[in-house]
Parts: sequence; C-alpha cells; structure tokens
Amino acid sequence: MIEKRDFYINGTWTAPATARDYNVINPSTEEPCAVISLGDQADTDAAVAAAHDAFASWAATAPAERAKLVKAILTQYEARVEEMAEAISLEMGAPIDMARGSQAPCLPWHLEGFLEAFDEVEWVRPLGPHAPNDRIAMEPIGVVGLITPWNWPMNQVTLKVIPALLAGCTIVLKPSEEAPLSSLLFAEFVHDAGVPAGVFNLVNGDGAGVGSQLSAHEDVAMISFTGSTRAGKAISKAAAETLKRVTLELGGKGANVIFADADEKAVKRGVIHCMNNTGQSCNAPTRMLVEESYYDEAVEIATQVAAATKVGPASESGRHIGPVVNKSQWDKIQGLIETGINEGARLVAGGTGLPEGVNRGYFVRPTVFADVTPGMTIEKEEIFGPVLSIMKFKDEAEAIKIANDTQYGLTNYVQSQDGARRNRMALALKSGMVEMNGQSRAQGSPFGGVKMSGRAREGGIWGIEEFLEAKAISGWDPSAG
Ligand code: NAD
Repeated sequence: MIEKRDFYINGTWTAPATARDYNVINPSTEEPCAVISLGDQADTDAAVAAAHDAFASWAATAPAERAKLVKAILTQYEARVEEMAEAISLEMGAPIDMARGSQAPCLPWHLEGFLEAFDEVEWVRPLGPHAPNDRIAMEPIGVVGLITPWNWPMNQVTLKVIPALLAGCTIVLKPSEEAPLSSLLFAEFVHDAGVPAGVFNLVNGDGAGVGSQLSAHEDVAMISFTGSTRAGKAISKAAAETLKRVTLELGGKGANVIFADADEKAVKRGVIHCMNNTGQSCNAPTRMLVEESYYDEAVEIATQVAAATKVGPASESGRHIGPVVNKSQWDKIQGLIETGINEGARLVAGGTGLPEGVNRGYFVRPTVFADVTPGMTIEKEEIFGPVLSIMKFKDEAEAIKIANDTQYGLTNYVQSQDGARRNRMALALKSGMVEMNGQSRAQGSPFGGVKMSGRAREGGIWGIEEFLEAKAISGWDPSAG
C-alpha cells in the first residue's frame, strides 16, 4: 500500500496539521491502493501563506528564468513518465497502454504549446498608434488556487500549473482526492526541477474542506477549477465575498452531427471517441445526431462498434476501456441507463449491470441508445460513462436546433464532406469548441466552453493570459525605454 500522507508546502514535504487519512481506491479491484491525508484549514492557510510570501520575488523573476524552470520540470517529467502513467492508471482506472499513450503525454504536449506562446507575450505593450503615451502592462494576478478533477488528472494539472508558473503566479494545487497520486509525483518533479520554495504548493483535500477553504481565502486572488457544474457553482459562491477571479471548465453534452455525406469512418470514430477514457471526458461526443437518410445504417454501425468494445482491468495491456472512477459514478451511470430505458429510448448495446464475466471493479457495459429524443434525461444530463445517445435529424436547421438546445456548450462535432456546410455549422453551433471530420484542434488552441460548461480558456496564449491582469497606463515616456 502506497502511503503519501504529507503535503508539499514551502518547498518541503510537510505532515498534515491534523491526521485525517483517506483511502485511494483502485477502481479495477475496489481495493484501497494508497492512503493520503485530507487537509484542513491550518494546512490550507500554511500553503497559502507560503505562496503569498513567495509571490513578490517570483513575479519579479525574468520571464526567461521562469521558462527555464518550466523546461526543467519537463526534463524531470520525461525521465519519470512511466511512473506517471502507472500512477494515473492505478488511481483512476485508465488502462495502462492508454495511460502511456494518451494520459501521460498530455503534459509535454501542452507544455510545449505554452512555451511557444510564452515567447510572444508582450509584457508592456502599446495600446495603439493613436495613443503614443499609453501602455498596457501584463502582470501576474497573485496567489492562485488550482482545483482539479480525476478524469484527465495530468492534463488538467498541466493546463493550470504551467501557465500560472509562466505568468509569475504562485500556486496552491488541490488535486482530486480520487486521483492524487499523479499530482504528488508531479510535485516531486517540480521540487527536483529547482522551482523556488513557496512558488508551488500542494495540499490534498476534499471539496468541502480544502476546496472550499481555497475558494473563500482572502489571500487567494484567483481559482482555476475543472470539474462538475455543481462544484463550479459552489466555488463561484464561496469566491464571491472576496471577489476573486474564478475560471471554470465544467461539464459538457457534446453533439456529434453526422450528415449523410460523412466519410465512412465517421460513426465508428464517434463511438470510439465517446467511449474513450470510459466516457469520462467533459468534451465527449455523447449525443450522436444522424441525418435521417443515414440513420438506420449509423445505428447498426454504432451497435457493432459498442458490442466490440472490450472492457478490462487498468493494469492489463490492450485497447480495452477500464472501469469508471468510483462507486458513486458507477451508481449514477447505472441510474441514468435505467432512466433511458424507462423513458423509451431503444437500447441497442450494453445496458445495466456489470459486463459479462466481471464480478468486481466499477466496470460499465459500453452502452448505446437509439431513438433518443430531445428532452429525455439521457439527452440532457452529462452521464460521464460509456453511454452514447443516437438521435435523428431532418436537415441542417434541425440539427443546429437540437445540438444547441442544451445547458452545456463545450465541444460540438460535425461530420460532412461538404466544406461550405461544415463552415456554416461551425459558426452556428453554440460551444467553445467545434471539431470537424475527426481533426483534433492544434497545439495552443484554447480549450473551454460557454453556458453551463464554464468560461475558461485553457492552453496557448489564452491559457497564460487567464493568469494575468492588464494594467492600463497613461503618461508613459517612450523615450525612457
Ligand atoms: P467534482 O466537481 O465534485 O470534483 C472535482 C474537483 O472539485 C475535486 O478536486 C473536488 O475535490 C473539488 N470540489 C468538489 N466540490 C467542491 C467545492 N464545493 N468547492 C471546491 N472544490 C470542490 O466532480 P466529481 O464528483 O469528482 O464528479 C462528478 C461529476 O463531475 C461527473 O459526473 C462529471 O459530470 C463532472 N466532471 C466533469 C469534469 C470535467 O472535466 N469537466 C471532470 C470531472 C468530473
């Protein structure tokens, strides 16, 4: 059993003020695999104080020096990436090959994108030719609280910690208590990279404890959060008293609009994408909207692809999907599958209960519902499991109406060979991101949503600017440099 009870505060591994053990459960076996501590107010205060004390000198560090330390973190990460893949796989159930191939590589990919964008930051920039004595100075916002989820643990940590460091902010990270092992390992990399004491701190804890304490803390200037819409609202309320900046990256219910002229792999690709990471991605294309004339064929393909999707333990090699993260997510997903059946959607693959031959672990059967109609619970709610809803549409206008008729707005998808139609759709869909014909967005493209998906923009230059304040200056003397 892994024992990781200490927090990383002010450059030192520090015992919690009060012992409060918490078992991390291996979702493939339902057995505890590690024990951590949940912090309390004294731990939160100590971490915030360390970040507060370190802020002035870190903010004054030359940008090139900050970039150098971020590159040193990458060097540490690359040397120990296998450990990282194993930690992620163990704590949240990503099959080991997927943890190696998709989860762990998130850090290098985003970090390189940030470094590229960082070179372009103009720290003191002219307002415009009409105002020769005006300047806009970009300054780090201060101490930032970063609260992350369990589903893509290193992806979320990277998207917050790296730009915050580059911007000149000091940090208190509270990773998900369900998946803290990857972040604890990451803290070792930060330490070994030589990041000065107090610049990066990590306190484990739950939402009601450290999460809420950071959100309400008067010395925390900003909370950057990824997770549920429920927690996003709670954080916004807790942060209101101190009027701190809050950036939220929340849930989604992405539409994947497939026209009859889509390429022949579009349906298969859509099912695989929905089931990837066992459906636990906020940008998963969980509503497949198919043009009427292609509908029956698409349902048939989706049924076959789901039936062929293998489910298995995270520790086994292979292209299967793993368990979902915990019992409460498993119960929630089972309840929603049940509701889908009761509300009259046509179950064509999977269903409730454990997959055949499985008697332990939080495994879910890859499930597809056809004939889902607007307003059904499974059409509206984020399920966060391997469950796809297929719906029919008549024409472009109806597809747009159904796709946009949701409280969420993170990523939508379009499949069509008609370029003009794709471009029209991309502009008509109400979401922070649109991905078309299976082409993923490039490095440096901002990740974030609209409506109840939150309004964060993470990645590239947008991701760095989230941690900066613009100061407007007049009377600047351009001749003084
Ligand atoms: P959650 O939002 O409860 O947890 C995510 C993080 O927020 C964790 O670190 C948690 O400790 C913290 N947290 C929870 N409540 C908080 C509060 N009141 N104040 C401050 N921090 C708080 O998510 P969950 O319970 O782990 O998952 C539930 C649902 O969230 C899922 O079914 C899914 O719909 C959604 N979710 C979305 C994403 C995403 O990437 N958008 C990620 C994870 C979960």
